[in-house]
Amino acid sequence: MTQSHGWAAQNVAQPLAPFQFSRRELHEQDVLVDILYCGVCHSDVHAVRNEWGNSVYPMVPGHEIIGRVAAVGAAVRRFKTGDLVGVGVIVDSCGSCSSCKSGEEQYCEVGITLTYGVRDRYGDLTMGGYSNNVITPEHFVHAVSPKLDPAGVAPLLCAGITTYSPLRHWKIGPNKKVGVVGLGGLGHMALKFAHAFGAHVVQFTTSESKIEDAKRLGADEVVISRDSAAMKRQTSSFDFILDTVSAPHDVNPYLEALKRDATYCQVGLPEKPPVIDPGNLLFKRRSWSGSIIGGMAETQEMLNFCAEKNIVADVEVIPIQKISEAFDRVVKADVKYRFVIDMASLSA
Ligand code: NAP
Ligand code: ZN
Repeated sequence: MTQSHGWAAQNVAQPLAPFQFSRRELHEQDVLVDILYCGVCHSDVHAVRNEWGNSVYPMVPGHEIIGRVAAVGAAVRRFKTGDLVGVGVIVDSCGSCSSCKSGEEQYCEVGITLTYGVRDRYGDLTMGGYSNNVITPEHFVHAVSPKLDPAGVAPLLCAGITTYSPLRHWKIGPNKKVGVVGLGGLGHMALKFAHAFGAHVVQFTTSESKIEDAKRLGADEVVISRDSAAMKRQTSSFDFILDTVSAPHDVNPYLEALKRDATYCQVGLPEKPPVIDPGNLLFKRRSWSGSIIGGMAETQEMLNFCAEKNIVADVEVIPIQKISEAFDRVVKADVKYRFVIDMASLSA
């Protein structure tokens, strides 16, 4: 067994605290990664606080992992000791269903193994990246360019790919008007990507204090979503809207902002489902859709794109001891625009 330590929630009522645990032996296809940084996703907050009702404890959260390869199994070909690598939201899938075969492992028909909080194929409870190391099959490990700041790369493993994938799937590019709802971890990456793809990008936000940042991050326009007159001015004008909001909110004003045949894509996963007025869909043949993270090949493509275009997340690096404060600030939408834990603080 591999000895590990990190911070875990022991139950829904307890804050995260130091925790010792063991990970499996290194199998021949496995990579052992010593973790340098791990991003703090709003999903970690939902999971630790059992907001989706399916949490399993003890829980070591964290699925935006950057680290160095410490050891590889005998069958590993793409990585060697010392390489800078990333691990994201998924650490296993069946590998043989139609989704896995077409490189869409995130839609595995048998079910994905998440980086934390689920039983893996060995029966072990997966433990995430708020820890010193992780063991992951090579297929779910990504090469990271040493050109980029590793702390800024960490959030690309979830916030990055979760926004890159739907923007690519719906072929966002020049001459497309794209809306991003919510300017947090996912939202700020969506802005950067949609801008880099050449779209006209409109940021919807509830926070007036974020207007200037939104423009700096790539927004051509910023709309305060509480301003109903400003929302009305956007009626029937969008090709695509990506909703990254973490809390229940009224989606109908955004549906009205879509053109005929345009798509609203949900990536945010609030604890309560939205109420959709069907009239907002059928009178203009609009579509309601969703998307989850991205496939392994696409994640590598996204990381390579970021290295080429010099794109990283805007991060606030924190020691692990500040994690409860960081969770509270995430919930208050007070994060600019991703907390990232410096794992050197584990031994502080
Ligand atoms: P985040 O950093 O907390 O950002 C969420 C943003 O939503 C906030 O910054 C805020 O933006 C807006 N917001 C918050 N509360 C709101 C409210 N009551 N009404 C309207 N807007 C509100 O969260 P994140 O890490 O980006 O994650 C966002 C959501 O995506 C979470 O639910 C997470 O679980 C989910 N997620 C999904 C996937 C996937 O694969 N589909 C992957 C990762 C995360 P403004 O201040 O600009 O309004
Ligand atoms: Zn995430």
